[in-house]
Amino acid sequence: MTGRSPSGRATHERSRVAPSPPTVGVPNALPCIVCGCQLDDALQGIEDNQPYAGTSFVTGGHYGSTAFDPMDGSRLEINVCDPCLTRAADRRIVIHHSNMGRVSRWAGDRECA
Ligand SMILES: [Zn+2]
Repeated sequence: MTGRSPSGRATHERSRVAPSPPTVGVPNALPCIVCGCQLDDALQGIEDNQPYAGTSFVTGGHYGSTAFDPMDGSRLEINVCDPCLTRAADRRIVIHHSNMGRVSRWAGDRECA
């Protein structure tokens, strides 16, 4: 819409765009890559992959992968739900890198020798 301001200049009122519908009930978090369960958002209203009861993992690729190793700074991100991660820990198929540089098989909340 075009009009005139008190100074006589032409003004243009932009048509208002309807706000996006709320995303409640439509999670932004990715599903678990193992079991496929949809994960809820840990932070409502944030359009990012921040799963509740799950963990996101990011990789820039891996030497030896035939699926993803671009070596260009791009990354992939996946989620694993907490039950799948703890089952994997029980099977000792998760590696833990401590903040002290120690590398070991992760056993969830338990210490693993
Ligand atoms: Zn899962």
